[in-house]
Amino acid sequence: MNDRTALVTGANKGIGHQIARLLVAEGFTVYVGARDAGRGRRAAEEIGGGARPLVLDVTDQDSITAAAGHVDRLDVLVNNAGIGASPAAPDVATAEEFRQVYETNVFGVVAVTNAFLPVLRRSPHPRIVNVSSGTGSLTWSVSPNPQFTPGSGAAAAYRSSKTALNALTVLYAQTLSEGGFKVNALAPGLRATDLNARAAAGGDPAEAAQGAVRLALLPDDGPTGEFFSWDGTPVPW
Ligand code: NDP
Repeated sequence: MNDRTALVTGANKGIGHQIARLLVAEGFTVYVGARDAGRGRRAAEEIGGGARPLVLDVTDQDSITAAAGHVDRLDVLVNNAGIGASPAAPDVATAEEFRQVYETNVFGVVAVTNAFLPVLRRSPHPRIVNVSSGTGSLTWSVSPNPQFTPGSGAAAAYRSSKTALNALTVLYAQTLSEGGFKVNALAPGLRATDLNARAAAGGDPAEAAQGAVRLALLPDDGPTGEFFSWDGTPVPW
C-alpha cells in the first residue's frame, strides 16, 4: 500500500499523538486531528514528516463536515479523541455527566466515522480503530486501576461510554462487512496522560500506540468487530 493516509482524532497530545507519530514512521500521511488549530499545528510540526494538522472537534458537526472536506481518500481512521469523567457510580453520577461524556466518546465517534466513510470507501484496505478502554468491558478484571475494578460500579459515565463504543465497533464491523473494512476496538491499558492526571501507575502512551498501529495495519484476512489489548491479546466484551 503506497501513499496511505490516516486520520487520528485528538492527536495533539497523549495516546493519539503517539499513534500519529508511529503511523508517520510507517510511511503514512497522517492528519493530526485537534480541536484547537494552534495545538494541532504545533503537534504536526513536532511529528514532522507526513503529519498534517486538521482542525476537528468531534462534538461539532460543522467542524467535522469541514474537516472531511479536506480529505480526498482515507485508509485508516483512528477514533482516539476521548474525555474522562468522575469516579461516580451510576446512583450518584448525574444524567448530565453521562450526556457530556457520551457526546465525545460515543456520539463523536458516530459523527466522525459517518462523515469520513465516503473517503474511507475509496481505500482498498480501509481500517477503523476505536480507542476504547478495558474499563468498558463488562467482564474483564485485569485493570491496574482499582477504581475501575469490575463489580465496583465506579466511573459509570466513562465506563459505559466505552461499553457503548464497543457495541458500535461490532455494529460498524457488521455494517461494513463489504469493501475490505476492518473495524476493531483497542484497550490501550492505563497510561499516564492528562485524561487521568498522569496516573502514577500509568505506562508509556507510546506503548499503547503500538496496539493501534497493529490494528491499522491488519492484513485483509485479519479480524474485524473484535476488541484487543494494546499487546494484541483479545479482550472479552
Ligand atoms: P488525553 O487527555 O491526553 O488526550 C485526549 C485527546 O482527545 C486530546 O487531544 C483532546 O484534545 C482530544 N479531545 C477531547 N475532546 C475532543 C473533542 N471534542 N474533539 C476533538 N478532540 C478532543 O487522553 P488520552 O491520550 O489518555 O486518551 C486518548 C484515548 O484513550 C481516549 O479515548 C481515552 O478514553 C482512551 N483511554 C485512555 C487511557 C489512559 O489510561 N490514558 C486508558 C483507556 C483508554 P484537547 O487537548 O483539546 O483536550
